[in-house]
Amino acid sequence: MPSTFTHEFNAPAFKAKVSFNTGLFINGQFVDGSDNTTIDVINPTNGKVITSVSEGTPKDVDLAVDAAHAAFDTTWGLHTPGAQRSRLMSKLVALMEKNADELAALEALDNGKTFNWARNIDVAGSIDCIRYYAGWADKITGQVQETTEDKLTYSRHEPIGVVGQIIPWNFPLLMMAWKIGPALACGNTVVLKPSEFTPLTAIRMCHLIKEAGFPPGVVNVLTGYGNTTGNAISSHMRIEKVAFTGSTLVGRKIMEAAARSNLKNVTLELGGKSPNIIFDDADIEQAVNWAVFGIFWNHGQTCTAGSRIFVQEGIYDEFFKRFMEKTQSLKIGDPFAPDTFQGPQVSEIQFNRIMSYIESGKAAGAKVEIGGERHGSEGYFIKPTIFTNVDPSMKIVQEEIFGPVCVLIKFKDEEDVIKQANDTLYGLAAAVFTQDLNRALNTAHRLKAGTAWINCVNSFNSNVPFGGFKQSGIGRECGDYALTNYTAVKAVHVNLGHKM
Ligand code: NAD
Ligand code: MN
Repeated sequence: MPSTFTHEFNAPAFKAKVSFNTGLFINGQFVDGSDNTTIDVINPTNGKVITSVSEGTPKDVDLAVDAAHAAFDTTWGLHTPGAQRSRLMSKLVALMEKNADELAALEALDNGKTFNWARNIDVAGSIDCIRYYAGWADKITGQVQETTEDKLTYSRHEPIGVVGQIIPWNFPLLMMAWKIGPALACGNTVVLKPSEFTPLTAIRMCHLIKEAGFPPGVVNVLTGYGNTTGNAISSHMRIEKVAFTGSTLVGRKIMEAAARSNLKNVTLELGGKSPNIIFDDADIEQAVNWAVFGIFWNHGQTCTAGSRIFVQEGIYDEFFKRFMEKTQSLKIGDPFAPDTFQGPQVSEIQFNRIMSYIESGKAAGAKVEIGGERHGSEGYFIKPTIFTNVDPSMKIVQEEIFGPVCVLIKFKDEEDVIKQANDTLYGLAAAVFTQDLNRALNTAHRLKAGTAWINCVNSFNSNVPFGGFKQSGIGRECGDYALTNYTAVKAVHVNLGHKM
């Protein structure tokens, strides 16, 4: 019997006793992993164990794939009208709304992000995403192609089948929504692995999926480690597509596993080292506020984090002063306290990784203007850190740190900054701040990135495509673009009289 997680939340914004089974969710049931092993779930605020959850193994992936195929062949896929899929997804939306505070509290507890951000961004965005794709479920259409009068030709957008989905810990619920939304709308069945660091909201979602009345096997969720369960998904012979969000390093492994096994279709949402460019004529107060949000929101654990901040020389000193002041004012601490902006990093591993980047910056001669050390004595808190005096050869300028650490770089003119901004192997997002419309659009168009923000940063919508150029990924999530990831296009030729 899988164990039960029980927790008494006693935060100003959420007071309740929460209790649910933490098994693997296979074929509509909560079950133990085949090896009867578990994974400890850690609270990053204090490093203590919150609970343990069942650990999936490659054998469990097989069981989940069996269940997903059975559902695809009987109760889902082409056997269920889109309107019915839409109704079930809408029921799930209603249940997510009903349990929104609980989902936010679980996310804050497990990941360390603040309850408020979790509620207003992660949970609200996840609800919005599932609602958006519920709307698509009965609007999946092919085309009729005009060929000759003795032939009818049309394309069908069929579901692919069983799809594998592997997600990270930085936006656990939101990444689940981005994945299952389009997959289910198009009629696929799902085998999803959450991050081993943040499994709680995905497991809670399974209870809601069950309550909504989805047929067993349509969604299967297995907590497990990457090199076992994750690898079993990406190399599975009966999974026809794998969607991955995570690091570029692991993305490469996913693609290799797909190539070595059955050449399954692959989409990847990977890392970034996004530039944030502030021109002399920017609204300085707004530029400062957005730049702070761009890098320090979600503790810097955002794939699109504006971690390289380029400021034009005429405004640099004033920007620097205000950026420092604003950063100094950020409240670090308990994710459940109403005025906290920044909680702990997600795990000890991430904490150590970020601290080693900070050390490497110091050793290379960059100057720490603020931060550069841990905050407090327990948990995985790191002070917001601003480096200056950097050069392009430094690791802190080139590599994704995935923490509250940025580099501030002075630039001369447009040519200079675009060259520097594009000097990275990533291409996820970029931002530009200026009041000059021509300069804004010219710069946005010349930046090699899947998202270009003008006078804002880290802004997302369910109906707007999201994804990376270069080594930041393959394919697009969100919007109708994501539907193409989850449909197999079949051309049908009907002979209306052409004789051989
Ligand atoms: P990660 O790559 O370490 O892990 C992501 C997921 O892959 C986890 O579920 C992990 O268990 C699994 N995994 C690990 N090794 C695997 C393997 N060999 N085979 C199959 N699965 C494996 O990433 P992370 O540390 O969880 O997340 C941080 C990274 O995610 C950052 O690089 C960040 O930029 C990226 N990210 C990108 C986006 C985006 O949309 N572009 C969004 C969020 C996060
Ligand atoms: Mn955790």
